[in-house]
Amino acid sequence: MAITDKIYLKNHRQLSSQLETNLPKSAFSGATLDLLFQSENLANLDDATQERVLDFATDFLDCDCDSNPHCGHPERKFMRYLLELREQGLGPDAIVDVMGDDYMLYAYSGDVLSFLDQSVRTLEAVEELAEVEGYREAADEAHERKRRLS
Ligand SMILES: [Zn+2]
Repeated sequence: MAITDKIYLKNHRQLSSQLETNLPKSAFSGATLDLLFQSENLANLDDATQERVLDFATDFLDCDCDSNPHCGHPERKFMRYLLELREQGLGPDAIVDVMGDDYMLYAYSGDVLSFLDQSVRTLEAVEELAEVEGYREAADEAHERKRRLS
């Protein structure tokens, strides 16, 4: 399971009652994205929640794909967001706190930790492969990105 399958709506119960529907807990489930971002639904949310939901839409659902938000870009952008927080020096617990403040989302810090570890291992594999194949620049870039994550 991808980390984005383990990102949850922090105020899930409150959102469900404001929308008078049973919203899935997972933030990136197709049904959540559909329900939450229909404009007639947005109007039913209180101001603070609406602001966070709109921030989320602006930051992650802003591509022009016909199939948006089901095109895969929102998930990829969110993973990049997590990696950027890590590059700023935040640990899993702090990352969970920040996503709560930014977007009213939460995750288990153990899941965030696994995701970060997996990302470092992926970069390691890329670096090794690039070295073997003689792609010096790609190897250096993977090395540098790995360094910034650790
Ligand atoms: Zn897209």
